[in-house]
Amino acid sequence: KLRWTLEGRTALVTGGTRGIGRAVVEELARFGAVVHTCSRNEEELNKSLKEWQSEGLRVTGSVCDLSSREQRHQLIEEINSLFGGKLNILVNNAGTSIKKTTVEFTEEDYRKIMAVNLDSAYHFCQLAHPLLKNSGSGSIIFISSVAGVVSLGSSTVYAITKGAINQLTKNLACEWAKDNIRSNSIAPWYIKTSLVEHLLGNKEFYEGMISRTPLERVGEPEEVASLAAFLCMPASSYITGQVICVDGGMTVNGFF
Ligand code: NDP
Repeated sequence: KLRWTLEGRTALVTGGTRGIGRAVVEELARFGAVVHTCSRNEEELNKSLKEWQSEGLRVTGSVCDLSSREQRHQLIEEINSLFGGKLNILVNNAGTSIKKTTVEFTEEDYRKIMAVNLDSAYHFCQLAHPLLKNSGSGSIIFISSVAGVVSLGSSTVYAITKGAINQLTKNLACEWAKDNIRSNSIAPWYIKTSLVEHLLGNKEFYEGMISRTPLERVGEPEEVASLAAFLCMPASSYITGQVICVDGGMTVNGFF
């Protein structure tokens, strides 16, 4: 039996029109999975779906603002009918950040980051649990951040959502192992996407960041997607409850 394949698997990837989510959609589909994704911008979603279709990738999508509880329910309803009550792979990817110091965060900032990054990931796991279980072999991937592993000096609210996700990864791994559902978290350092392009464009910031990174560069979305795909394959069947950094060595570097 092939171990490095996703043939015959079904997947939901949140936030798949840009950045890391988009790379994950494409990686999973190229390994043979049938993928559904979502985003808020209908035009960008339709454009992406056309591009994937012309590449021969089996990807569908719907508009969903995953900070809305009701829209999360709707999305899982769609997945339920699309994939016949089963789902192999859930990738909780979509997330947002605001770079401020702890005292600067407003109540509104706090609620927004919690809703998009943590509430949605937790609720999607709850909603998808019966479908993951029905599939006979489920894999949950969280796109977390190194900000949930070490302190980056700002963006505290973002960091606590990612730290919480890393703990959620471990709890689900133990609680749902009996349902043959694995749960792993990927914690990237800077990856070239629209989320952080304004930061990467700042020369001083960029150089400070690179000086702490042993590989001396930022990452590409594909370099995160390859790990996501592996963690969904039979090849990784004994790996669960792990937080794996994709960070060019940043979190193990004590020498900057
Ligand atoms: P991008 O902003 O480039 O892409 C985010 C994607 O998610 C888009 O497709 C966006 O589409 C969608 N999205 C955002 N908010 C929502 C929402 N409320 N409802 C539905 N879809 C949404 O982000 P990245 O690819 O950089 O980030 C992806 C994940 O990776 C995040 O969780 C982030 O925290 C994490 N990460 C990123 C790092 C980086 O350096 N880039 C480093 C560490 C972690 P639309 O806006 O149209 O809804």
